Amino acid sequence: MIGHENIRMVSGMKCDGIKDNTIKYSLLIDGIQHDDEMDAYVSADGVYIKDDDGNRYIDLSSQVINVNIGYGNEFVIDAAKDQLEKLHYVKPYVAHEPRAKLCEKIIRELSPAGMKKLYLTLGGSDANDYAIRIAKIATGKTKILSQYHSYHGATIGSAQLSEERHRGRLQSYDFIHFFGYTAEYLKAFSSDEDSYCQLLLEILERTIISEDPGTVAAVFLETMKIGYLPPRGYYEGVRRICDKYEVLLIFDEVLVGFGRTGKWFAFEHYGVIPDMITFAKGVTSSYFPLGGVIVNEKVADSLEYKSFPDGLTAAYHPVGCSVADAVITYMQKEHIVENADKIGGYLKSRLEQRILGFPEIEEIRGIGLLLTIHMKGKMSAESAVRAFCDRLKDYGLLTWTDWPSVIVAPPLIINKEQADEIVDGLERCLRELENEGYLKRIRYYPDKSYEMKRFYALDFLKSLDTIIGGKKVLLMGSAQPVMMHYVLAAILGCNADPIIFISSDNYKNMLAQDNELLNEILSDKCYIFETNRFEKDMLKEKIEIIKGEEKIDIVLLPYSRGDGKWQNVLEVAKQFSDTVWMIDSKSVIMKL
Ligand code: PLP
Repeated sequence: MIGHENIRMVSGMKCDGIKDNTIKYSLLIDGIQHDDEMDAYVSADGVYIKDDDGNRYIDLSSQVINVNIGYGNEFVIDAAKDQLEKLHYVKPYVAHEPRAKLCEKIIRELSPAGMKKLYLTLGGSDANDYAIRIAKIATGKTKILSQYHSYHGATIGSAQLSEERHRGRLQSYDFIHFFGYTAEYLKAFSSDEDSYCQLLLEILERTIISEDPGTVAAVFLETMKIGYLPPRGYYEGVRRICDKYEVLLIFDEVLVGFGRTGKWFAFEHYGVIPDMITFAKGVTSSYFPLGGVIVNEKVADSLEYKSFPDGLTAAYHPVGCSVADAVITYMQKEHIVENADKIGGYLKSRLEQRILGFPEIEEIRGIGLLLTIHMKGKMSAESAVRAFCDRLKDYGLLTWTDWPSVIVAPPLIINKEQADEIVDGLERCLRELENEGYLKRIRYYPDKSYEMKRFYALDFLKSLDTIIGGKKVLLMGSAQPVMMHYVLAAILGCNADPIIFISSDNYKNMLAQDNELLNEILSDKCYIFETNRFEKDMLKEKIEIIKGEEKIDIVLLPYSRGDGKWQNVLEVAKQFSDTVWMIDSKSVIMKL
């Protein structure tokens, strides 16, 4: 039998082991399976979280916008403990107190008039899957509409709603996408917000008509999305169209529900009530996995004599219900939703005053504590925004980008002083990055690969700058194209002037593919040396030509794959200069 001592020993494993074993034995989410870097976090309290090096951060994104009441909430932890001891589980076909209490609370105290029943799942994705199934059963119709650039989850049903991540990978006849409020580029076709709204509504109505309203069960929309709000009047129009064609309107409140935007549900900002609501994340602040679907009277009644799809083993989980009940009670008692509204407004106005003036910042968007920072021009490239988020860690702020937005969505319990701490951190980070010329440098990075993120590190750029800053750099060899893209971006970031001397036309074509910057440089400043036919005389001739045309200050060899030609490349390089620098795919620079 394993005693408590042993369990503590296992869970007290060294952090290196935690990272290594995580990478070695678990499939990585949203990443590349051979990633060799991963952050590890060990403890948290309130709005702060600590990593394995003891650094403390404000959790500026509440993880994935779910830890809404922050960490270490004793009231909720006690509720979970009590329920685990009392009755940790019963099957979903029977009644139990936490289920009865929570369902009544959500319907009677939080939901808008007309909502009648709910079903509880384990998270947002399966809540959306159930919403799809319920909509189909309730209407007898099959098609579900959702907008392009949407995210509704990762299970098979919700993933098919989610056009943005699963384009082309999961396709089913029943899932139709339309241009909704995230298609902001359509603003270019409208003169003002009202005509933009009318255009979007026209698109929705035409989509329903062309699909045949008799087959469309529901329109599914994230009420608000990170970085996007619908235009004024949009939801009134959507509601009207849904009613006209007898199509259900479903709001996905997984991310925005339970206080995130300063109201219990985000649709309350618009005064429009859907037929169904899905939720998860904030309902338990992830003290336990739980999600759900709320249905109105019409939907609930239409299910009355129909069989409901199979239940989940963990549906209405007693611990989940207890935790959700405790989270909601805590939020009501401590006025957390009001706090999100008040501090959210304060934070937004402070951000506007203090960081909107930076040339890289275009806009602060959002409502309540679902705020986002939008960068401008080249700084809005995914790689640059990602690099900016990485740098924010040095200023005690932990967040990520749902490109093109930098997320500012701290736990809803945040106070004014902590909001000031956030603004200070962001401002200091931007100012110091500007002083260091960093923002200018990373402007060129291609949006390619997570693997190459070391190339964004300031230390790397600084040391590269001392070696090649402002110089004419001959870049040689045949490293992997993605690496060449990064090396080139780094060279440009150091205001150096690159000339490329590479192995073959084939390789040149590979480099030029989908990289505008490289294409330009390659058509202007590229020499081919054909290592396959490594004839000394021919090479000598080429080297003389290059030397006659260019005054090379420094030779740089990007090295990533160690094929047999490396020695040849080095030999050729030495004919240009006595000292040659090598740079590898981990951004290590060495003198050869
Ligand atoms: N819907 C929205 C709007 C979401 O943001 C998410 C998750 O981020 C989901 C659904 C999926 O929820 P879950 O990850 O809990 O399955």
